[in-house]
Amino acid sequence: MKKPGMDLTGLDLTQPNAARVYDYFLGGAHNFEVDRQAAEKILRVNPWLADAIRENRHFLRRVVRRLTSSGVRQFLDIGSGIPTAGNVHEIARQTAPDATVVYVDIDPLAVAHSQELLTGSDGVSAILGDVREPGRILADPTVRALLDFDRPVGVLLGGVLHFVPGDVDAILDPLRTVLTESSHLVITHAATTSTVKTSGRFTMDGAGLTLRDPDEIRAMFDGLTLLRPGVVAVPEWLPEGAGGTDPAPVDSLSFAGVGRKD
Ligand code: SAM
Repeated sequence: MKKPGMDLTGLDLTQPNAARVYDYFLGGAHNFEVDRQAAEKILRVNPWLADAIRENRHFLRRVVRRLTSSGVRQFLDIGSGIPTAGNVHEIARQTAPDATVVYVDIDPLAVAHSQELLTGSDGVSAILGDVREPGRILADPTVRALLDFDRPVGVLLGGVLHFVPGDVDAILDPLRTVLTESSHLVITHAATTSTVKTSGRFTMDGAGLTLRDPDEIRAMFDGLTLLRPGVVAVPEWLPEGAGGTDPAPVDSLSFAGVGRKD
């Protein structure tokens, strides 16, 4: 799994890690025994979870297509995870070959694999960063080189804010402020009132997530225009339906929303 030349400084292989557990749920190969055991433990209690996580990736693809069709050509994907098929730059470049993307993750393995995958791809890069330090991310030389904040940027916070307990305003304020007109903020977030939770099948065991209710997730778009259909369960966010690529809706762990700066 470790490839020559990869810098995995800081990698702790004794503890399961969110990016690698997520990779296992998606059927990826970038995980270790400790991650597989943690994932299997979660799946024993929540066998539906792998489907729900795949729904998250479907949503990400739908939303990137919609943003590129609205003219967004730049993406900042924070908590981007380990690369799987259909990454943001691949989707965006299907319709906008000039799209630029910066992937940011706290996990050195996710960043190392992203960098490896992106070798030779102009206009796309991956950096190590912590969503709790938005100022550092925004000031990063790679971000500044690839993204022009005087033009529309799509900031993606897919499945990352629920790893941050407490108040997330200090994260969101600088991101909402830096965005110029026609920029978009995309959030998916594990929700207290998801179908999963209300059907009583979700346990927090080992997941380490901070669930928030839809009103709290909606408040993350304060100061932006929340696009239709609002903050909804991930499969319900503009499903592409018959002829599209999305499977039938499944129980959803997360809610999703997209806000536009006007
Ligand atoms: N964004 C992808 C998606 O929506 O499919 C992947 C989401 S995955 C559930 C969450 C990712 O967030 C993991 O790769 C994890 O390493 C990363 N992450 C967790 N805490 C983070 C933090 N404080 N800063 C940046 N990334 C973080």
